[in-house]
Amino acid sequence: MPPKTPALKTCPFCGGEASVKQAPGISSPVMFTIGCLDESCIGFPATKFQTRKDAIAAWNKRAS
Ligand SMILES: [Zn+2]
Repeated sequence: MPPKTPALKTCPFCGGEASVKQAPGISSPVMFTIGCLDESCIGFPATKFQTRKDAIAAWNKRAS
């Protein structure tokens, strides 16, 4: 885990791990998705964010 990355809360739906990823297939502008690592979970990432920070803030808000 990179030291600059703020802690992510666990998935509010299944309690599993969550992660931030760069959205695939997009190079400019770079977008990020965030969500549960479980593809079958309702918390699986669907929304794209412009920054990693925004993604984490949105996730932690939903997971709180
Ligand atoms: Zn989940």
